[in-house]
Amino acid sequence: MFLMTFSKKCERCGLRYPEDEETCSHCRNMSDGEVVKLKDEHQKQLSRVKLKAPYLLSVILLTFSVIIWFLFLAK
Ligand SMILES: [Zn+2]
Repeated sequence: MFLMTFSKKCERCGLRYPEDEETCSHCRNMSDGEVVKLKDEHQKQLSRVKLKAPYLLSVILLTFSVIIWFLFLAK
């Protein structure tokens, strides 16, 4: 939902925030130390998504091959 709206990337924390806002809604009230922590968390989340992607792909491929196999048997 958040990604669907027009957004710009914050120079400070690297997250996206709505274009109609003056300052970043993520790090507006944060100290520099907190911003570093936020960035770290964000990077961790990104790497978690990257780890999941190949697993999801193999599950999808497996499902497709099972469907094709069943179609082949049905003939
Ligand atoms: Zn920010």
